[in-house]
Amino acid sequence: MDRKKVLIINTGGTIGMVRTENGYAPRQGVLMNELRQIRDLSSPKMPEWDIIEFNPLLDSTNIRYIQWNQIADAIADNYEAYDGFVVLHGTDTLAYSASALSFMLEGLDKPVIFTGSQIPLCEIRSDGNDNLITSMLIAADGIANEVCLYFGNSLLRGNRSMKYSSDGIMAFTSPNFPELARAGIEIEYAPVKRSVSRREGPLRVTKMKDCRLGVIKIFPGIDFDIFAPVVHKNVDGLILETFGKGNIPEYDKALISLLSEACRRGITVVVTTQCPQGTISLGAYEAGSELLRVGAVNGRNMTTEAAVTKLTYLLSKELPPDEICRLMETDLRGEIHF
Ligand code: ASP
Repeated sequence: MDRKKVLIINTGGTIGMVRTENGYAPRQGVLMNELRQIRDLSSPKMPEWDIIEFNPLLDSTNIRYIQWNQIADAIADNYEAYDGFVVLHGTDTLAYSASALSFMLEGLDKPVIFTGSQIPLCEIRSDGNDNLITSMLIAADGIANEVCLYFGNSLLRGNRSMKYSSDGIMAFTSPNFPELARAGIEIEYAPVKRSVSRREGPLRVTKMKDCRLGVIKIFPGIDFDIFAPVVHKNVDGLILETFGKGNIPEYDKALISLLSEACRRGITVVVTTQCPQGTISLGAYEAGSELLRVGAVNGRNMTTEAAVTKLTYLLSKELPPDEICRLMETDLRGEIHF
């Protein structure tokens, strides 16, 4: 039987970084040098692989819509030639990029596995070795045919994941959705319903555009007037990280008048919760009922990462505001459940 083929797309991140006098930084060629020393990579049990490398390589704190488009292009240009894709990426914004790509790649029917590491490959005790090798096997298996994130033995749905540890080896979690697979001695895939990523038709890529979004995290004592300039500065969309089930303080009416003005101007306002687990239920408490009245979108159990990237995706499609609101509340790629 022909060996499967996997394309590795190296965007940067700790996995291929070196220590510099200013701390870890990515350097061209370092990862390739490390890969030459990983014996598993030349095993006949591994898929065949090729690699393409971004130039410049980036700390993922610098990744935004431009690089999301480059990753999507690299996948689309090589889609027929490979059975699966592994995207090497820094951990800081990995969950955002995995979410973004899940929306951008409509009709995806092959695994796209995002991974990276907490310790560079060039250091002892690097977690990069297993993260890379297992991601490649998962990419070749063709079972998790969606955008996923593999890290610390766990395969997660990309748009359900979030970084939750800045120094742990198990750095990611998916608090509102079960893991897709666990890599012990065997890679065991969970019987999870696949994401609604539309198998029909060829792969279609929506390019992301430069959107102006604001994320406002509510906290006790927040002075909403501070945010008036944000709302008045031609934002395209707002995400409100609210308390619990979608609650906001009622001690002044500044927020509600800001939001109703934003909604009137066609700005999408999405309500998410600060709780990693659970769902927004607008109107469950009087303290959140005003949000319903002004026309805010119920972000239910979407992570902030999913909400930001989904809104960017829908705005990039230049849909009318009503349609954006409707689709924000619709499950497009398994990012939300009811
Ligand atoms: N700052 C790094 C990055 O996101 C952290 C990492 O890769 O773990 O690129």
